[in-house]
Amino acid sequence: MTEYFQDRSAIFESERILKESYTPNDLPERETQLKRLGLEVLSPVLNDAPPHNAFLYGKPGQGKTAAARFLLEELQDEVEDRSEISLTTIFQTCKGHHSSYQVACDLVEQLTGENPNGHPKRMVFTRLYDAFQEIGGIVVIVLDEVDNIGNKDMILYELPRARDNGHIEDMDVSVIGISNDMTFYDELDPRAKDSLCEVEIHFPPYDASQLRSILNRRSEKAFVDGAVTQEAIALAAALAAQDLGSARQAIRYLYKAGEFAALNDESNVSEEHVREAEDHVEQMNIAQSIRDLTIQDQLALLALTSLTAEDETPSPTPEVYSRYTDITSHVDTNSIAMRRVRSHLHDLDMIGVVSGAKRSGGSRGGPKYYWEINTDLDTTVNVLRENNRFDDVLDLIDKS
Ligand code: ADP
Ligand code: MG
Repeated sequence: MTEYFQDRSAIFESERILKESYTPNDLPERETQLKRLGLEVLSPVLNDAPPHNAFLYGKPGQGKTAAARFLLEELQDEVEDRSEISLTTIFQTCKGHHSSYQVACDLVEQLTGENPNGHPKRMVFTRLYDAFQEIGGIVVIVLDEVDNIGNKDMILYELPRARDNGHIEDMDVSVIGISNDMTFYDELDPRAKDSLCEVEIHFPPYDASQLRSILNRRSEKAFVDGAVTQEAIALAAALAAQDLGSARQAIRYLYKAGEFAALNDESNVSEEHVREAEDHVEQMNIAQSIRDLTIQDQLALLALTSLTAEDETPSPTPEVYSRYTDITSHVDTNSIAMRRVRSHLHDLDMIGVVSGAKRSGGSRGGPKYYWEINTDLDTTVNVLRENNRFDDVLDLIDKS
């Protein structure tokens, strides 16, 4: 092998199993949720009746998508030899979609091969209902990450009522909505709540011991025997449990830790690799959240970054603001009032990119906020550099 490639087979037995796209066929930590989904929602199908509409919710990485995929596959297997039952399952992610229009277009494309994007909404829905009619029988649509389309959207009560409203006949459409956002349900339009949420199933965050079991099962298949220590698994589980309780996060830590071990030509994944992996994954997450910031948020961050490079942090709000106005005159954008920059700094604090600490103002009035960046300076500079407009300012930072 040339120096450009590396043989990772001493660490990984089957690396695919650590990828996002892998669906496990065993989720014992979700027994309660799977039972409810099976017994309360899907069982009518075995009696040739449409399942109830259902709503699955919980924070990201709690096995919602995996559980829905797994159980619908099981259901397909159950009905396979029963010719009197015609069941079709359609998975549709709403990620990146902001309206039911886009989701409906995607569904039509999935079913007919043609995307009706650009046509009037009524026509898109007519095509969708025609496509359903063509399939017939029982159609179950899983709308994953449905919170993306907003909770005022009509698709959530239109689809479950397609038959009642005469859009389809002699067949049935049921909807299973999945949401990562807990507030989505609370704010859902009452009509949508009424038709979609016949059964609601909550997926609470995993604790460390559940994450350990998940990682153990996954690593048995993914890693070479004995390549991962129990300590490394326990640490990855503990770190993820402390943070979001997300299985996705725990699996990412372990995968990255394996990659670090492989890169260093070591035959074991150790706790040290897991720590390195956590640090790396968190920096990547922060880099992504910096990319997603609005321009004014980025400018506030740029001001603080430039103060950091000069060792001037933690800085009080007026100092950050003064740097901010220097920068806005430089990069040719409008500047906003100090009060609003302060509120941008609080937003950055919320997502963990900066941190603000209150200090008492002593004899000179009430408490003041002092700000500093919460991320690695180099990472922050590199990500901000992706915006060419910041080049001049960042060049100055590099020189200091
Ligand atoms: P969600 O849809 O709730 O965000 P996913 O179902 O995508 O979460 O799960 C995130 C990752 O964790 C996936 O790789 C999934 O296979 C895995 N996972 C989640 N829960 C379990 C579990 N109980 N057993 C095995 N793997 C799991
Ligand atoms: Mg999901």
